[in-house]
Amino acid sequence: MRAMLTTTPQRIVVVSHTNPDGDAVGSSLAWAAALRTLGHEVHCLVPNRYPYFLNWMPQIKEVVIFKDQPEEAKQLLAEADLLFCLDFNDLSRLEILSDTIAANTHMRRVLIDHHLSPAEGYEIVFSHPDSSSTCFLVYSLIEALFGTEIISKQMAEQLYVGMMTDTGNFAFSFLTPELFRAVAVLIERGITVPEIHNRVYNSYTAGRARLFGYTINRKMELIHGGRVAYMSLTEPEMRRFGFQQGDSEGFVNYPLTIKKVKMSVMFLQHTHFIRVSLRSRGNVDVNLFARKYFNGGGHKNAAGGKSFVSMEETIAHYIRSVEEFAAEGGI
Ligand code: 5GP
Ligand code: MN
Repeated sequence: MRAMLTTTPQRIVVVSHTNPDGDAVGSSLAWAAALRTLGHEVHCLVPNRYPYFLNWMPQIKEVVIFKDQPEEAKQLLAEADLLFCLDFNDLSRLEILSDTIAANTHMRRVLIDHHLSPAEGYEIVFSHPDSSSTCFLVYSLIEALFGTEIISKQMAEQLYVGMMTDTGNFAFSFLTPELFRAVAVLIERGITVPEIHNRVYNSYTAGRARLFGYTINRKMELIHGGRVAYMSLTEPEMRRFGFQQGDSEGFVNYPLTIKKVKMSVMFLQHTHFIRVSLRSRGNVDVNLFARKYFNGGGHKNAAGGKSFVSMEETIAHYIRSVEEFAAEGGI
């Protein structure tokens, strides 16, 4: 990798997944900044918009959004020598951008990711499913390749956002001493932890708070002896609360605050499909569940997929799948 990056300045695109989250955007921006210190020309690209509560992030306005600027994105890809794929394991996760990327075969490709089962087709693969975030992976790469001295305050903020959001505020798995040492370095670079926390978690609209109350109160169903939860939102329901991209972020975690609940799912209606978001606790493997029943994947305790039938059929399929999965010892 060092050899790949120390040759003449190159044109580089850093791409991340559909519905980019804090880890996708944070890792892309910080990695792009690190590459720029070597003189490379770097652009960040995502398929669609990031949630509005990330708008404050340093340099985020420079991220090219394929859905809004398809021609600019195609031009950047046509001119690029090198493509970094961050925070996703398969080109299909790029959805509307997948075909464009797949067609650009002249670029060398490098994967930096923490999801299970990385796809083929990369010259170099940094796939670490035991890393709590891609931001922590990028931090570790920067440390190994360039030294942490190159991390500016802005890069530290970008990296912290992904470390914080992907670990559910340092509450999920893979909370290693190395991660907290990395956080210590980011704090030395001048980040203010409560400020970043407020900007990300306390910046929602009133509509989002009401939608959350509605979803838990009216739409949360408990099945399988109260050990499995599901919730759903249709387009009219979202419209009623002035839904914006990112507003349902975190909803799916809430049923897991109930002691008995081991698995939770959220079905969110989109124009042409239903997005499925899964979370679990302990040994319940929702990555396996998402792969088997919803054409998706992710991590053991956080995964996702899609459904192309109606909401009623999707829920019926889910209930049947939970029964089958439980009968096989999955729950
Ligand atoms: P979220 O529920 O936050 O959208 O996604 C949770 C996790 O599941 C993320 O790590 C994400 O990468 C993964 N994921 C979400 N949707 C899909 C999907 O359609 N396919 C695959 N393979 N993974 C997904
Ligand atoms: Mn991630």
